Amino acid sequence: MFRWAFIVLDDLLALFTLKTLQRRLLFSPLDLSTHFSGIGTAELAAHCLDIASQQLLGHSLGFAFVSSCESAPVSQRVLKQRVHADTCIITDVLARCPAAKELFATSSALGCLPRPVEEIWNELRLTGCKAQAGKCYQHNSLDCPTPRSKGDLSGTPCQCWSTFGLRKTTSSHLIILLLVWALWVRWAKPLFLVHENVRGFEPTFLEWLLGDMYDMVTLRVDPSHMGLHFARRPRIYVVLWLIGQIVQVADITKTYLHVTAAFEREFPCRYPLSSAFISTEEEQQQEYDNSKKKKQQQKKARLDLEEVRPSAHRQWEGLLTDKQRGYLKMYLAKWKEEHYADTGILPEEDPSCLFDLSQDPAQKPRQSRNGMAPTAVLIYELQDLCFLLLFLAWDLV
Ligand SMILES: [Zn+2]
Repeated sequence: MFRWAFIVLDDLLALFTLKTLQRRLLFSPLDLSTHFSGIGTAELAAHCLDIASQQLLGHSLGFAFVSSCESAPVSQRVLKQRVHADTCIITDVLARCPAAKELFATSSALGCLPRPVEEIWNELRLTGCKAQAGKCYQHNSLDCPTPRSKGDLSGTPCQCWSTFGLRKTTSSHLIILLLVWALWVRWAKPLFLVHENVRGFEPTFLEWLLGDMYDMVTLRVDPSHMGLHFARRPRIYVVLWLIGQIVQVADITKTYLHVTAAFEREFPCRYPLSSAFISTEEEQQQEYDNSKKKKQQQKKARLDLEEVRPSAHRQWEGLLTDKQRGYLKMYLAKWKEEHYADTGILPEEDPSCLFDLSQDPAQKPRQSRNGMAPTAVLIYELQDLCFLLLFLAWDLV
């Protein structure tokens, strides 16, 4: 699995030659940051590339992570094990913009943004970013400065863009987190950014937030591009670079395609995903929608049943076997014949009415040798609409 970094650099060597690559990748040091860092996969990937560079190019890439930013306590603990002791682990991206923090709290309670996203973005841009980052888990302090880095690798929250998140997009309160990240970008001005999100992400949204400062290119990335043919997590990566500060020496899209071809040679796809999944992604989505609809219908049916419970005993007949249903019919007829004429009470209205559906009403109930009832009886209780399985344990008597 960790060979990927060697394959990438090996292919870049073939594309650009050793001397060119050494010159282009000799950074000292290259300050990096991550946001929405999770358990530090971006940090780990950078470390893998660095090791590969030391082996293949003969020098370190000089990556220096100045800060991560992660709100989940479990992930913070993992990050602390992964990053250098100097690297800040900021616990709340919103802390660097109090206006956004307040807005996030009210929007979460509402479940959506109180105003159009355009208005909110304009408001936040007026307030700007604080120089203090808020709580730092790594240094147990409130004094760590808001990071400034030369490069940032961030995967902003995807729930607002994913199909399973109901595609609330820009009306979701989670979009505020992306706005605060963009606010920080405008303040810190990293030379380059790599932004990751799910397939439903709209790169035009980043153009709207940062397009006046950054040029960008979108890559549609699939795990199969790295030889992981049985994984389905397609992603949209947007690579951004600060206008006027970065000279592009190669076409990013073409280079990416070149590298993915190297993976294809290394891990040819003998068995395409379609051989394991007979349905297409659209069909799977359809299946997901159907099952969701079915669950909602079942929930509604359950609620309906609870409402009309006293007269809904027929719902339970679906759980009976054909034989039991036949017995029930005979029991009901017999019961009406024997009791209804006298009392005028229907079997389902009489709390004392119990039928043993394991016994054929046309025959005499079976008796054990000592005259006790059988070990287990399935009783259909009309009053409470439930089945009782009674263990009478006559063997033990
Ligand atoms: Zn710190």
